[in-house]
Amino acid sequence: MVAEGLVPVYDRDIDVLVRAYKEAVRSIGAELSRLDLSDMSRANAKAALAEVAKILADLNEESVAWVNAHIPKAATDGVAQAIVSLGAAKTLDEAEKIVRFNRINREFVATAVADTQADLLAVTQNIDRKVRVAIRQATAESMRANLAKGVNGRRTISRDILDRMRQTLGNAVNTGVIDAAGRRWKPETYVEMVTRTKLAQTHREATMNEALGRGALYGRISRHGATDACKNYEGLIVKLTPDAPGSYRYIGDLPRREIFHPRCRHVITPVRDPSNAL
Ligand SMILES: [Zn+2]
Repeated sequence: MVAEGLVPVYDRDIDVLVRAYKEAVRSIGAELSRLDLSDMSRANAKAALAEVAKILADLNEESVAWVNAHIPKAATDGVAQAIVSLGAAKTLDEAEKIVRFNRINREFVATAVADTQADLLAVTQNIDRKVRVAIRQATAESMRANLAKGVNGRRTISRDILDRMRQTLGNAVNTGVIDAAGRRWKPETYVEMVTRTKLAQTHREATMNEALGRGALYGRISRHGATDACKNYEGLIVKLTPDAPGSYRYIGDLPRREIFHPRCRHVITPVRDPSNAL
């Protein structure tokens, strides 16, 4: 039975994007490891920075295309879910053919696309900033060491200094992002978390907007045997708008630490008459 809140699986789509980030981080790391830290010039630094900027620009372009395709797809899936649950189509395939975003969904999808783009852009901007600082620092350190070399006659920069420079550069690439809660994420882990969270959220919101547009004021939280705090909410009937009659909890009031948290896969099945719902 399709109506029982099918949890859409976007793993493969997410994996494509996560791999692009991993690959970019690896390429930047390789670029930095080719730098001759014992004899850096401003010209070397400039060339490396240009190469890093190119890798990040390509990555941004791929991200934008991914978000433009997949956020609207998740919204379409959410609307199709609502259409099937409310009996206007028998299957999701059939429903997808009649999906049309209502006004609120059009606005919502545009916002969700922009938000997701901004979240992903923050990742590349952060790598860009950190790598710039690290390369500048390495250049200055290398030039200083070579200046000292001329004075004390030693032939090479000490192993210690080189190791430290390498480490600083390596950390710069892998530094990732610090989120609003102060947690530090590796770039690819953050990208995976953000996209998974946004796709599920987009699906839920699109379902709710379509349901309300069709006069269904309630919804049921999907079940997939969750083992985290979400398990207490599986199958729960909720109000989709605070004004709906009855003693059901409003979905917007549920504690976000417990349900609809980052990476949460729970979706909503619209319900027209909760007294008839299972
Ligand atoms: Zn969940």
